[in-house]
Amino acid sequence: MSQQDLEPLDVEAIRAEYPILEREFSVASPTQRADGEAVDDGSQLVYLDNAATTQTPDPVVDAMSDYYRESNSNVHRGIHHLSQEASIAYEEAHDCVAEFIGADGREEIVFTKNTTEAENLVAYSWGLNELGPGDEVVLTEMEHHASLVTWQQIAKRTGADCKYIEIDETGRLDMDHARECITDDTAIVSAVHVSNALGTVNPVSELVDLAHDHDALAFIDGAQAVPNRPVDVADIGADFYAFSGHKMAGPTGIGVLYGKRHLFEELEPYLYGGGMIRKVTFEDSTWADLPWKFEPGTPPIAEAVGLHAAVDYLEEIGMERIREHEEMLATYAYEQLDAEGDVELYGPEPGPDRGGLVGFNLESVHAHDLASIMNDHAVAIRAGDHCTQPLHDKLGVAASARASFYVYNTREEVDELVAAIDDARQLFA
Ligand code: PMP
Repeated sequence: MSQQDLEPLDVEAIRAEYPILEREFSVASPTQRADGEAVDDGSQLVYLDNAATTQTPDPVVDAMSDYYRESNSNVHRGIHHLSQEASIAYEEAHDCVAEFIGADGREEIVFTKNTTEAENLVAYSWGLNELGPGDEVVLTEMEHHASLVTWQQIAKRTGADCKYIEIDETGRLDMDHARECITDDTAIVSAVHVSNALGTVNPVSELVDLAHDHDALAFIDGAQAVPNRPVDVADIGADFYAFSGHKMAGPTGIGVLYGKRHLFEELEPYLYGGGMIRKVTFEDSTWADLPWKFEPGTPPIAEAVGLHAAVDYLEEIGMERIREHEEMLATYAYEQLDAEGDVELYGPEPGPDRGGLVGFNLESVHAHDLASIMNDHAVAIRAGDHCTQPLHDKLGVAASARASFYVYNTREEVDELVAAIDDARQLFA
């Protein structure tokens, strides 16, 4: 890696491409509200809800608006110029994503609506056909509902069982338990790469190897990994890998399912219709080449153009630098919150196996109240179970607060988060 790659981000220049970050919100402070006083002039937005959805930079918005202004048409290689242009742009978006994550060509990249749909695609296409009584699906206790609920329900329908690899007291996977869970009965291991609730970066290559040692498949949920760190699917070795455009500076409405070509070739389509067929008769149909076999109907074309622009944008910044920036912010936030003394922090201590988010609770203040006080400071965080209810049951809390960072966040914004916590503590004292 060149020295240039390791230079810190020019956050000021990056922020200039996100007009939304200039927004100000006029909100009453709790004391003002209590006294019925007028609200402050606007406070500038501090956006720390990036694990839910990142903001969209001008180059991505421009690419999508240029597409609508100049090239909008349906794909599938219509005869006219606009359809040709739209088809090429749509196909090239697959190529660009394939290169970005180290896949072996566009045949291994299926565009879905989001990570959730990618999970469902594999669960329905493969799981419903291949699973049966005696088979086991191995998940982790920190799975997002996108994977947990999907496999749980497909297992119920097929008679298969679900097993969960436990987490230890540091919020890491217990790899001894992983070795116990993954056996010759395992049909698939589905694990999250970076936990959206704990921030834990899981040893996914090790999990994939364990699955393969027992002739099982491995599905990795990369929704919180691809946006924030270099990811190479060939290195990881997973059979399937999924992520969402809206968490990586791209648009909503598009996600990615990577799958090994030979598996995609064997799999039945998940959804049927136009655009995914080769030949149709009244009696039967055959399927188009990969990846179109899994993309029926009019696909998310403008969104694919936006995702392409987002990948270009992230690559220009450099994924390793993004990872370092987030690690710096997460470490700073963790340390500041830890120093408060009454903040419970979840997940591993700062280090290489923690991603760019911090989950926490302030003693005696419900996470929702905390998020509401934060909102009074125009600090946007998320509170709730983060689609990990069983994990929260295990942690013994109904909800947690989560601050999550991206390329445009600063240490000063972390300071504002901490100041808002001080305000909450005073209010609830
Ligand atoms: N997995 C993880 C780890 C996530 O964080 C999320 C989003 N919170 C998802 C899956 C689901 O992503 P989407 O809503 O884009 O389908």
